[in-house]
Amino acid sequence: MKPLRIVIAPELRDLAGPAVNWIWRQCLAAIGYPWQEVGIEDPCDIAYVVNRSQAAHAKIGIVATPARWRDPARYRLSSITAGEAPLFMRFIGETCNAPLVRTENGGWWLPRDVIFDLFWWVTGQEEQHWPKDIHSFYTAPRFWLKQRILEQAPASAIIASLAMLLKHAGLGDPLPRWPQGKRAAAAITHDVDYPEVVRWLEPLRIISRQHWHGVNPAWEVLSGQRDYWTFSQWMAFEEHYGVRSAFYFVARQGSLLEYAFGTPDPFYNIAAPQFRALFRRLIEGGWEVGMHASYMAYASHERFAAEKQRLEHAAGAPVFGNRHHYWHVSPVQPEETLQLHAKIGLLYDTSLTHDHHLGWRRGINAPFYPYAPHAQREIGTLQLPVAWMDAQLAQRSDLTQQQREAIVCDLVDRAAVQQGLFVANVHDYVFDEVLYPGWLATLRAALERIVARGDFWVATPITIARHWSDRYQQLLTLSSGLWEGR
Ligand SMILES: [Zn+2]
Repeated sequence: MKPLRIVIAPELRDLAGPAVNWIWRQCLAAIGYPWQEVGIEDPCDIAYVVNRSQAAHAKIGIVATPARWRDPARYRLSSITAGEAPLFMRFIGETCNAPLVRTENGGWWLPRDVIFDLFWWVTGQEEQHWPKDIHSFYTAPRFWLKQRILEQAPASAIIASLAMLLKHAGLGDPLPRWPQGKRAAAAITHDVDYPEVVRWLEPLRIISRQHWHGVNPAWEVLSGQRDYWTFSQWMAFEEHYGVRSAFYFVARQGSLLEYAFGTPDPFYNIAAPQFRALFRRLIEGGWEVGMHASYMAYASHERFAAEKQRLEHAAGAPVFGNRHHYWHVSPVQPEETLQLHAKIGLLYDTSLTHDHHLGWRRGINAPFYPYAPHAQREIGTLQLPVAWMDAQLAQRSDLTQQQREAIVCDLVDRAAVQQGLFVANVHDYVFDEVLYPGWLATLRAALERIVARGDFWVATPITIARHWSDRYQQLLTLSSGLWEGR
């Protein structure tokens, strides 16, 4: 494969060189082109430059705006009120459908800095300013939700537009994104929070949730006829679709007392014989056993590493992937936690999601290596963006079951259009349709859409992460320039 030749504005080098290079690497790797960085006077395929005259030798010129790169956090949209939502939608529209100008030499000039826009999305510049609750969950402004902005994956829309432009400019076919000639990828994941019921407590929870409908199942739980150990059912359900998922287990055992005082870790013990046997069974059947980092794991490198080690010991196999319980990463700077992932040797993490809002938190549905802003470096642990968690729809009483299923199928279709990844998170304990009506049905709808489309590569997250990591290395080997330390 011939690398595409790219020029980066010298004006950006001192200002934001590592950040600019990083977002270009993620963008070109997502599309599938290797690169060769060339000088400003050289002929090139892409010129990311401050003014149009500098792009005279380029097939594609894209304007770079040093003012934005100087202080990315200044570009805020949360100050826009609901009344100004159309203004915001125009911003999204301009970003994704930026007008192209034909140049005198037959090339193209893009007068909007979509590369900054991409950086702004993928590094979460806007969310930093949103209100947070006690679990450090962000609350998006109302119009974000109304316009279903995160469900549109605006960053992936930018990447898709650039991919089209590059192809149109005659740069040839990129490296395919996914194996087996598939257009998109999907992974099913389960946070294992509550596999063993607390028999005296659970009936009360059931009745408080389901009122008189819950009397019968509550009695069945109390008398031991009904439990939440549904792994066999999950495995049979997934086998029916020819799918294998990942189950994420918490290595640290919590307690009711801790729960009451604000550390909501699950109560099970992964070292118990039933869990050891389960891990063997899952792994032998092709399922993935991953880590569900405890609520406070992010706060200590040692604690986090010890949890990984404990799970590896119990599972008798290395652990490569993680999701934080309650999506609980550093509330001050999520990227600090993402750096920890690399330090403890995780190949991937899949925790960057809003608890309450479905859709892609950073606007991107392709895997990416995140950016550490203080260290000004790429983080070596891949991030697999999550599209949807069960509770985000199941707990919304304003929706019918049909609407919930339609929303999830829209996310599947969106991922397909953008050649991205669809990751679903459905908790272990919601398999029971009596206790959690509609929860499993929504996943079933998503899986049926995925299977019916036929253009998805469905695999465990670790298989997807390995594929993306190998593909990235392959592109890096063919590339030169756009690296750190500039
Ligand atoms: Zn959890």
